[in-house]
Amino acid sequence: MENLDFLEKSNFRSLLEADGADRIQDKLVVIDVFLNTEEHITLEEMMRFLGEAGYDFDSGFVKHCLHRMVDLGFAQRKTFEGQPVRYEHRHLGRHHDHLVCTKCGKIAEFANEDIERLQVEVAASYGFHMLQHRMEIYGLCSNCCSERKPLIPLTMAKAGETVLVRDVAGCKHKQGRLASMGLRPGDRIEIINDTGGGRVILGLGSTRLAIGRGMANKIMVSPVKDNP
Ligand SMILES: [Zn+2]
Ligand SMILES: [Zn+2]
Ligand SMILES: [Zn+2]
Repeated sequence: MENLDFLEKSNFRSLLEADGADRIQDKLVVIDVFLNTEEHITLEEMMRFLGEAGYDFDSGFVKHCLHRMVDLGFAQRKTFEGQPVRYEHRHLGRHHDHLVCTKCGKIAEFANEDIERLQVEVAASYGFHMLQHRMEIYGLCSNCCSERKPLIPLTMAKAGETVLVRDVAGCKHKQGRLASMGLRPGDRIEIINDTGGGRVILGLGSTRLAIGRGMANKIMVSPVKDNP
């Protein structure tokens, strides 16, 4: 990617020079920081990244740079429903579409040849010659989806099942209580063995934990959809 970024940057520089633009060095800094992220970023996030890299440009200038990048074909401006304007790379000859989480705002990219072909076919069947399209799927990402699922006590999960740790019932110092067992909220654990006897054996990453039944009854978990 680095080599490609270098080519993009020198391409941008030569177009700016041909335009007789001013502050070319500053503009190159902005495109550099922009090319270093693979995200769909807002002006505000762009300002933060520049700040972290030690640059203090005013937001009017950065906005102007982003617009020049759009005009010259290096960036694309995206407006997803319910979100501020975002910018992403424009890779020539490559196309992708988006999945947008309406809860946490997460944006994922996908490309599917069948969908692309079908869109051209549908357009053609209405006598349209398709020039461009936007395909955005709105919904809940897998994290937000699992948050919606009902919480169950750890003892109700089955051996072989993967669950997410969510909460500890009836406990004031939940985080500390979990931490004392080597767990944190959001941990993905696998139920290895629940013999119904004294303890539940869990897999967390590459370690196994044994949790007493009384405690396991208080640990609230949510099932993970993509169980193997
Ligand atoms: Zn598409
Ligand atoms: Zn989400
Ligand atoms: Zn994208």
